[in-house]
Amino acid sequence: MGRFHRHDDGTWHTHDHDDDHEHEHEHHHHEDVGDHSGYDTGGERIDVLEAIFDENDRKAESNRAKLDAAGVVAVNLMSSPGAGKTTLLRRTLADLADEIRCGVIEGDIATSIDADRLSGLGAQVSLLNTGAGFGGECHLDAPMVTHALEALDLDALDLVLIENVGNLVCPAEFDVGAHHKAMVFSVTEGEDKPLKYPVMFAAVEVVVVNKTDLLPYLDFDMNLFQSNLAKINPSAEIIHTCATKGDGVDEWLNWLRGVTRHGEG
Ligand code: MG
Repeated sequence: MGRFHRHDDGTWHTHDHDDDHEHEHEHHHHEDVGDHSGYDTGGERIDVLEAIFDENDRKAESNRAKLDAAGVVAVNLMSSPGAGKTTLLRRTLADLADEIRCGVIEGDIATSIDADRLSGLGAQVSLLNTGAGFGGECHLDAPMVTHALEALDLDALDLVLIENVGNLVCPAEFDVGAHHKAMVFSVTEGEDKPLKYPVMFAAVEVVVVNKTDLLPYLDFDMNLFQSNLAKINPSAEIIHTCATKGDGVDEWLNWLRGVTRHGEG
């Protein structure tokens, strides 16, 4: 069993500690890849994975081109489940409503709970249930986002915020066609997470460290977390927030203003 690794430059490799090549003769179907908790390293499987990532990257480029043509900037927002993406987005949509025309692509395995929470705030919301016919439950991929973009009127938008499925592993491995990657990290998750999930923490430009109001009740060591993050991603910007109360959210909004080319009018 080897783990399939993918890098930002599009190259990939596996770590293969298994000399048994019997797997090469197994037939793997597309559906198998939806569950990528681990990868066999048979040659045929590698070919299938390579083809799927190639197809994903082509779709990602076409998503980006479509966004560019409409003058829209897209941000892929990732985190583990419950870190506070939807709460942060609720504040974001409400606070930016008069300033930046926002759309949301809501990646959710099976429900409309988050999409419902984001409705009525002046933003176009496109819900994508990843478990319904897409064969993957743990992340958004570029073809899913292609589908979701069709539900948005891009000419009426400046910024698309893509709320990915809550998961610290898979979403970081798939380019969905966004221009920027950001993540929300909750202080309840522990200081070690950048070391344990380096692909995710290395992939993002900004880490929103959320739920800071809970710090008095936790043993969380912010300095240790930040030094762990610096080992994995020295250039990551760090923003401290309490999204439920609004503390620090202005700094996040300023980051979004900075990446939104058409936000200034
Ligand atoms: Mg959510």
